[in-house]
Amino acid sequence: MLTRALLHLLSRGGPQGRLSILIYHRVAVQPDPLFPDECDAQRFDAQLRQLAACFNVIPLSDAVRALERGKLPPRAASITFDDGYADNAEVALPILQRHGLSATFFVAAGFLDGGRMWNDTVIELVRLAPGELLNLSEIGMGRFEIGTIPQRRQAIISLIDQLKYLPMESRQAKVDEMCALIPAIPPDDLMMTSDQIRTLHAAGMEIGGHTVNHPILARTDDSLARAEIANGKEMLEGIIRGPVRLFAYPNGKPQRDYLPQHPEMVKRLGFDAAVSTAHGAAGAGSDGYQLPRFTPWDRGELRFSLRLAQNMLTAVETV
Ligand SMILES: [Zn+2]
Repeated sequence: MLTRALLHLLSRGGPQGRLSILIYHRVAVQPDPLFPDECDAQRFDAQLRQLAACFNVIPLSDAVRALERGKLPPRAASITFDDGYADNAEVALPILQRHGLSATFFVAAGFLDGGRMWNDTVIELVRLAPGELLNLSEIGMGRFEIGTIPQRRQAIISLIDQLKYLPMESRQAKVDEMCALIPAIPPDDLMMTSDQIRTLHAAGMEIGGHTVNHPILARTDDSLARAEIANGKEMLEGIIRGPVRLFAYPNGKPQRDYLPQHPEMVKRLGFDAAVSTAHGAAGAGSDGYQLPRFTPWDRGELRFSLRLAQNMLTAVETV
């Protein structure tokens, strides 16, 4: 296998070891016509087959420990999921089990048991909005053609762009105004239940912190940021009746989404390691509270492996 040999050259293990950490969010049963590039069951299955063939997939907490001690296996990789979608337990878990692989699930604790993240509310409202024109001008958010699927997708992208970096309260207020204006009822079963978290945990999967309400920490004052990180940890620990030791920064881009004080907070609050969404692979010199991660989106096997190889050569950004 050419790609395995290439990956081996780039990631030999031991003190020179490189750890590739993959990020997933949703794994839908079927491809979503609105977002055909997102992961679905069939694609996830193919990617795991490829990963199991080319990499030594290990739980993230084991990988972190091995990295600290210079004892990573060659071609080390860990699988992670962000946010806490119900399909992680319903769709991804059985596929992981079929391949004998383990993953870490970073869960925003405030949306469990019937909650919904603001971006999903926007997506589902626009998905369900009747007619061919979505007129949000009375709440200052513009008018959108939604007659075709690409137009609906474009409307979603521009609305999310408008809202993403607003302060948490004003963002939610805007989303509430959208809910009042659009005659559609978004689903309330997108995120996991507490029982599904326990199912993942009982199946040997790791549960990690991802705050309560998923704020952009860089836009949040320090005492609220600390409370979000600490309370999210505590809520999850109450659910699994065990320690939560890994953390993922919401959105996760260094400088843009979190700042130098945040890795420090995460450390003081008792986490062992944290992951960002800066690209690249972790190595001996990496900051254990800012480990880079990578989203694998290529469909073909060769391109998927080459993308992982390229990721190992990427310089990692930190704060
Ligand atoms: Zn997230």
